[in-house]
Amino acid sequence: MSAGNPFFSPWTNAFGFPPFDLIKPEHFPPALDRGMEEGLADFDAIAGSAEAPTFANTIEAMEQAGRLLDRVCSVFFNLNSSHTNEELEAIARDYSPKLAQYNAKISLNPALFARVSELYAKRCELGLETDQMRLLERSYLGFVRSGAALGEDAKLRMAAISERTATLTTLFGQHVQADEQTWQLVLEEGDLDGLPDYVREAAAQAASERGLEGKYVITLLRSSVEPFLTFSTNRDLREKAYKAWTNRGANGGDTDNHDLIREIVALRAEQARLLGYATYADYKLDDTMAKTPSAVLDLLHQVWEPARLQALAERDVIQSEASAAGFSGAIAAWDWRLYAERVRKARFDLDDAEIKPYFLLENMVRAMFDTATRLFGVKFREISDLPLYHPDAKVYEVVDAATSEHVGLFIQDNFARSSKRSGAWMSAYRSSEFFAEAITPIIVNNSNFAKSKPSLLTFNDSETLFHEFGHALHGLLSKARYPSQSGTCVRRDFVEFPSQVYEHWLAAPETLRTYAVHYETGESIPEELLTRMLEARKFGQGFNTLAYTSSALLDMEIHSQTNPDNLDPEAFERDALERLGMPAEVGMMHRLPHFKHLFSGGYAAGYYSYMWSEVLDADGFDAFKEAGDVFDPELSRRLKDIYEAGDTRDPMELYVSFRGREPKTEALLRHRGLAAAE
Ligand SMILES: [Zn+2]
Repeated sequence: MSAGNPFFSPWTNAFGFPPFDLIKPEHFPPALDRGMEEGLADFDAIAGSAEAPTFANTIEAMEQAGRLLDRVCSVFFNLNSSHTNEELEAIARDYSPKLAQYNAKISLNPALFARVSELYAKRCELGLETDQMRLLERSYLGFVRSGAALGEDAKLRMAAISERTATLTTLFGQHVQADEQTWQLVLEEGDLDGLPDYVREAAAQAASERGLEGKYVITLLRSSVEPFLTFSTNRDLREKAYKAWTNRGANGGDTDNHDLIREIVALRAEQARLLGYATYADYKLDDTMAKTPSAVLDLLHQVWEPARLQALAERDVIQSEASAAGFSGAIAAWDWRLYAERVRKARFDLDDAEIKPYFLLENMVRAMFDTATRLFGVKFREISDLPLYHPDAKVYEVVDAATSEHVGLFIQDNFARSSKRSGAWMSAYRSSEFFAEAITPIIVNNSNFAKSKPSLLTFNDSETLFHEFGHALHGLLSKARYPSQSGTCVRRDFVEFPSQVYEHWLAAPETLRTYAVHYETGESIPEELLTRMLEARKFGQGFNTLAYTSSALLDMEIHSQTNPDNLDPEAFERDALERLGMPAEVGMMHRLPHFKHLFSGGYAAGYYSYMWSEVLDADGFDAFKEAGDVFDPELSRRLKDIYEAGDTRDPMELYVSFRGREPKTEALLRHRGLAAAE
């Protein structure tokens, strides 16, 4: 079975790049099996060592353990997200509980925990450097938070909970993806009223990919359905698309997620109780920058009321626009985007179709690379001789601009396809470390832009591009010594700071003047269009902020349930929104039945993180504005420290050494154009 399995021999491509041309789905099960076997043997050897525990023979040894499994898992889970198929999905279902079991065997190993505890107790006498001290403290905390300090029965129950949750969360994501893939709105020429050319072209492309030549298809990917809702003048079709989109995971049948939500939430509440916390939110928040649910709720509620008032004002304007256009009756959720777009057009004489020609994907990629060169002194060069898993993916070598020294590899995979999960994200095929030997990173960014020629983006798409690239830089620039402190391995509510702050350089006039050039004429975006565009961004912030904040508040509420065994997710959502006074026309960014961040990603009781980080990024970018230079060398250098530090230092300490003080909320409200609450 092992003959010819690329995971069992060294990778000889340049930079040790994964041999995607040789890796086949059938290689994963034996490689995962052997990886877990070797990993357990590594950890057992550390736990069973006859020598007294030292930092080197315990903590550092754990950093070296399970290398094969890490290598297999990083390729497997990345491929399963970026370019999956039925075989990979079946392996994911099969191995998620096994991997959870594997992790539980390590984190609940009493001999291993005893060694870590002994070191932790005398940590101040060990002569450790700052990063080592933090590694030891976090390692100890990790064991405790996994239940290592509990009695035998509780430990068994913790392991069972993790295993069951792993199965449920895998299913949850697969259900959402299935609903997204099955549903399609097939349109004829006569159904396209209102749609600009780029939306028609993307719909024609989607149809031809599905063998429906000559027709048009709208899918449930945000990049397809959102423009349709924004422009289609066919109200019935809008309603149909909107309902399908917001009912992903809530359609009854095999892919319905309500039962999964109930069980996941109940298991999480039980896990928190076992560990001595009142709720899962208390447990989760204890190990974050925010620390407590009340700190999170404080922030969200500070934003909620001004955003709600703003959204209600927007609703009035949009309603008048609709009435003026001859629509009788109150606008519904599937009308909002259409009339909001018209208001935007009327007020700012602006529409996406006017802006998009200035946002050519290739130019935006160049903009984000050049920004990194100016801020952080790294350069990017496309390389063509490495094997990739899909022809749409590209790989770049990242080098130090001054010394030409190799920094890492960056894979960019921009376009939507049915084998890719929805959304945009950064991940690593290999994380960097500078420990036993220097290992350089291989970082990937995925997006789901509609594939067309030329590939023109909206401003929001371009922001997504910069956002994910901010995460990528966090992975690429990391100087952390140990793998578990590398790059984005920071607290969940700090991890969005490097990505979100990077978005500000897209909106900087310095960037737009140079890179937002018309794809046909090569002319820079006209100054007055730029001004109108930046002004227009403030319209709709009430809507955007409520859509996000309602999702974040529901996340906190559902994970603060003390007795969720009989939870009815549908009723829970309805009641919570009613209590908040959420206008029905707005709609949540993610409803619970397809809220993958919570139920198949790592953001349970953590969706607030984006806004927590936004406090930091708005306040942090202000430093550059105050300096009068968005590329201020001294500030750039201090910002780079944050990208390089990984999890070697406390996030607040890192922020303060960059900014010179703790963050303030004012910049966030101002940036969103919201007045502070009275
Ligand atoms: Zn992000």
